[in-house]
Amino acid sequence: MRRIQYRLLAIIVSIGLIGIITPILYTNSLALGQAQEGILDKLQSHANAILVYSNSSEKTTFQELATEYSGASSLRITLIAADGTVIGESSLPITELQQMDNHNERPEVLAAQEFGEGFSTRYSNTLKIQFIYFAKKVDQNHYGFKYVRLAQSLKSVENLASTYREFYYLIIGFMVLVIIIAWFLLKNWLTDPIHELTQAADDISKGDLSRRININTGGIEIDDLAMNMNQMAMTLDQDFRRIKRMEKVRSEFLGNVTHELKTPISSISGYIETLLEGAIKDENVNIGFLERALENVQRLEELVTDLVEISRIETGELQMIYDYFNIYNLLNDIHKDAQQRNSNKNIKIQLEVPDKKLFIYGDKGRLEQVIDNLLSNSMRYTDQGHIRIKILRRDNELVFSIIDTGIGISRKSINRIFERFYRADKARDRRKGGTGLGLAISKHIIEAHGSNIYVDSLEGKGSTFSFGVTTISPE
Ligand code: ADP
Repeated sequence: MRRIQYRLLAIIVSIGLIGIITPILYTNSLALGQAQEGILDKLQSHANAILVYSNSSEKTTFQELATEYSGASSLRITLIAADGTVIGESSLPITELQQMDNHNERPEVLAAQEFGEGFSTRYSNTLKIQFIYFAKKVDQNHYGFKYVRLAQSLKSVENLASTYREFYYLIIGFMVLVIIIAWFLLKNWLTDPIHELTQAADDISKGDLSRRININTGGIEIDDLAMNMNQMAMTLDQDFRRIKRMEKVRSEFLGNVTHELKTPISSISGYIETLLEGAIKDENVNIGFLERALENVQRLEELVTDLVEISRIETGELQMIYDYFNIYNLLNDIHKDAQQRNSNKNIKIQLEVPDKKLFIYGDKGRLEQVIDNLLSNSMRYTDQGHIRIKILRRDNELVFSIIDTGIGISRKSINRIFERFYRADKARDRRKGGTGLGLAISKHIIEAHGSNIYVDSLEGKGSTFSFGVTTISPE
């Protein structure tokens, strides 16, 4: 495989050579043709002139006539008799005339014999120069010779060609300059950017997703390609980051799950082992150990339920079932149930509603789950004071608030309590029970209702959790 830039160079050089050779060939043949034509015209008119001159001349020999006219016109003049004998020749002295060969076979003479006039261009053996010959047939009885032949050397044409030569050199120089400039521009606009694009594609395919192409050729096609490749790399980069982040979240979640499951399981196996090793017969501890093992089993059950729940919510498998309903009775039930469950005499649980017509649009079971969860948290993290379930009307919403006078949440933790498994104080909160998933599940449910869950808290003073649910039914 050859590099594209060498192919381009070959193309440019070929075009350049054609550019140089064509005008040279053209001007050469054109110049020669034009010069020949001019000379022929001249010879023709001189042929007529010499005939006129011969009539009026007082010269006694044809040799003198030829020499004289040649002197005046600077043409070579030959006068030939009907049998081909040269009887006058301007370029030779009269003494050498006899040695000249018969001229009847000369092409221009042959042509004149047949057509009256004839010409030819050839090398003169007599004079060793390239000549143009023109011969004309005349009346021998009148002039004393049968053919008048005039000739001019092509020296002047060669002189003309040499003036063109300078012009050719100029053309060659110019073409070489054009080739260099074209090469330079193509390299800048095409081969260098393509090289950079190839290199970038190579880097990206090797995994360097931060690689960007920085070219600006001004050519739409290549610049667009570079832009698209940058865009592609950016999208890949983003996707890759998102996948990595998701992977991290997943593995963290898995780590948390393992940890949360391990604690109760090892407690259970610990109690059972101790019982099997003999404690089962010890009436002081056997029941207590079994009770604690049961507590841990219940805790496991709770954890598994919450895990299934959150994974179903997060995968979108769990659908909300929306209804337009009055939540008043449900709130009353939740309130009574909480009062019954509450063993702490230092806490008062209150329900505050504006009226008994509390119609909302939402999933009844899921909203009950959220309120239950918030209420359980308040009871878990409050030692004394009161817990209020407060309902307010605001615009097209009912706002639910669970307010307690408990331990509160630190500034550091408040932004993270809705994360899965997050606990403000790991050891303490785990001891108090709960899975660490309650708020994460509640947040998902409220968001599925198109709303948000808020927390407001002061450490040591208490917390308020609140959310709104629409009172407008879509039907
Ligand atoms: P958990 O099952 O541990 O209660 P949650 O997701 O319900 O899990 O709550 C997360 C954490 O938020 C708790 O561990 C606790 O630190 C804090 N938290 C939740 N509700 C309250 C509250 N009413 N008062 C103080 N802290 C709370």
